[in-house]
Amino acid sequence: MPADMLADGVRSGRLNPDEYKQNFSDLHAPLDAHEALVAADRCYFCHDAPCMTACPTDIDIPLFIRQIATGTPEAAAKTILTQNILGGMCARVCPTETLCEEVCVREVAEGKPVLIGQLQRYATDTLMEKGAHPFERAPSTGKRVAVIGAGPAGLACAHRSAMLGHEVVIFDANDKPGGLNEYGIAAYKCTNDFAAREVDWLLGIGGIKVNRGVAFGRDVTLKELQGDFDAIFLGVGLGGVNGLGIDGDDKDGVSDAVDFIADLRQAKDLSALSIGRDVVVIGGGMTAVDAAVQAKLLGALNVTLVYRRSRTRMNASVFEQDLAASKGVRIITNASPVAVHGNGAVREIEFEYTDDDLKPTGQKVRLAADQVFRAIGQTLVGESLPELDGGKIKVSETGATTVKGVWAGGDCATGGDDLTVTAVAEGRDAAMDIHITLMGGA
Ligand code: SF4
Repeated sequence: MPADMLADGVRSGRLNPDEYKQNFSDLHAPLDAHEALVAADRCYFCHDAPCMTACPTDIDIPLFIRQIATGTPEAAAKTILTQNILGGMCARVCPTETLCEEVCVREVAEGKPVLIGQLQRYATDTLMEKGAHPFERAPSTGKRVAVIGAGPAGLACAHRSAMLGHEVVIFDANDKPGGLNEYGIAAYKCTNDFAAREVDWLLGIGGIKVNRGVAFGRDVTLKELQGDFDAIFLGVGLGGVNGLGIDGDDKDGVSDAVDFIADLRQAKDLSALSIGRDVVVIGGGMTAVDAAVQAKLLGALNVTLVYRRSRTRMNASVFEQDLAASKGVRIITNASPVAVHGNGAVREIEFEYTDDDLKPTGQKVRLAADQVFRAIGQTLVGESLPELDGGKIKVSETGATTVKGVWAGGDCATGGDDLTVTAVAEGRDAAMDIHITLMGGA
């Protein structure tokens, strides 16, 4: 480790160019054709396959694996994409260890599942590399659908709606479409600008216009859109971030993990990004783990992730927790932040140990910190939204809100588990319900 890395403070350029490159390379190297055949050969092609039941988008997993095994990966990709148009990204970010691979009979019998996620990536990458778009639009229906938010739910709804012959306009506040896929996921999970390439490929269906830099509520309102469109889908995500609500929360060096991740994802030069020597991340979900691991990969000397309950209550999967530990992130559980200390800038953060019901034990600890990232949950922001339930837009099973002609899905809506794959399923299913409604129940 270079001597200058031992200097205190938040600074850039902690690593050499090769270290940045290596640290932010693909988390899982893609399978080559031979490896894919070997992996596919392990599948039993189960009848009533449990893996398929565990997939939120109901992909016919044994069918696509059989198609890979018979040398037709493009057909396998079409099987995947028919159910999940963002199958390429989901192959990279799905917590397969708690979904399809957890229930795979090979996992249950031998403790080693079929590599479903990596096979899905092999198939979708093979198709996308050929630049082909496997779906065609139905004849125009003359109906117009507005989609607010170009994240996974919005993109899935837009694609399915366009495929069914509707004219779609997406409104998104950011410069680039993609939502969390573009701004909110660790860089090592989607290398080589995959999120942007996948959106370009998805838009290849035609019939979808993307209006960038248009914020819902600020630049366009529900009422205005209701006059211009036959149906509206809200996939606005969760734009607000919970504060710590403790003394010193506003000190320099304390910021939101989502902003850190977004800056990192958009950085052209990782060596220009500043990172602390002693970094503390507060939270127990995927955002907390993504921030902690990337802080370590940027060269932070000590990274500690602190969660207020026990490990089993963390939203981050065991795989993610193990990944963090393997990268050198220390995980402290059952500790709740009580104060940020420092003169202007953070120098220490103080925690009190808690039991699993968050009851304080009276025992306190201080951690050295020159950078603190908050990752304790996000909230829905916006005015004039349809009826809410528990802080999210209340929707039916098919995504219909309590306002006629308005659907919602993804993180901003009730139900689901805030995974990319669930958002895709919700956007797709809302599009089907929109179609049935617009076509008079046909
Ligand atoms: Fe193949 Fe495993 Fe699914 Fe069975 S459960 S079909 S072995 S991937």
